[in-house]
Amino acid sequence: MTINLVLQSNWQRVSAEVSEACRLAGRDSHAVQIVGVSKYVGPELACALAEVGCLALGENRPQSLWEKYEWTAAQANSRAIVWHMIGHLQRNKVKRTLPLIELLHSLDSLRLARTVSDEAVAAGLLVRTLVDVNVSGDQTKTGIAATELEPFLEQAIQLPGLELHGLMAMSSLGGDSDTARREFAQVRQLREQMSERFGAQLPHWTELSMGMSGDYQEAIAEGATLVRIGSSLWEGVLASA
Ligand SMILES: *Cc1c(COP(=O)(O)O)cnc(C)c1O
Repeated sequence: MTINLVLQSNWQRVSAEVSEACRLAGRDSHAVQIVGVSKYVGPELACALAEVGCLALGENRPQSLWEKYEWTAAQANSRAIVWHMIGHLQRNKVKRTLPLIELLHSLDSLRLARTVSDEAVAAGLLVRTLVDVNVSGDQTKTGIAATELEPFLEQAIQLPGLELHGLMAMSSLGGDSDTARREFAQVRQLREQMSERFGAQLPHWTELSMGMSGDYQEAIAEGATLVRIGSSLWEGVLASA
């Protein structure tokens, strides 16, 4: 099979599995968007994934996002790819990244929130963002601790360049399916609690970005609206996937 056919079959399989997970959870299949994570591949393959229908692509490193954005934008017939920044964003990379992205998943400190807002205002943008919340307690992970979320939001809702759309989270490294499900349930509850706490101050507070190749079924069962899927989409394309 050519790489394009492998990608097409992967995309169809993952899309069908996401629809099935929605059905099992009693949710509409349009309620969940797949963000294809292209960090494992170069710009040509990222573009090829978009060609088979995965038009939302996510990168976890700003330089890789810039590089792929530029490469794909220069293709004559490239389809309209929408980029998501899903990893930690260093403050000195904010300015260049903001104009390229549809959604920032990974707001993980007040310092970053202030920088993003300042740069957004300077550029005349309103940045759609999620708050990266660390529910697993993994020290190696970025994110705002669950207990810090409310004080964080009290400050962040004051920032004029931000439009806060919800939460992003990852389950514990090496955790099992029950652990993942429990952690995703906690994220869902946090979103609801913050909705009750802040009400009309958070008018766009609807998204939950959670679930990767190994745990998106659990995430969808707990209300994910965005799943960030990498490895499953690159099976048969990468030696390691
Ligand atoms: C790599 C990555 C993913 C995708 O992980 P897979 O297990 O390959 O599906 C999702 N989210 C973030 C933040 C990542 O860095």
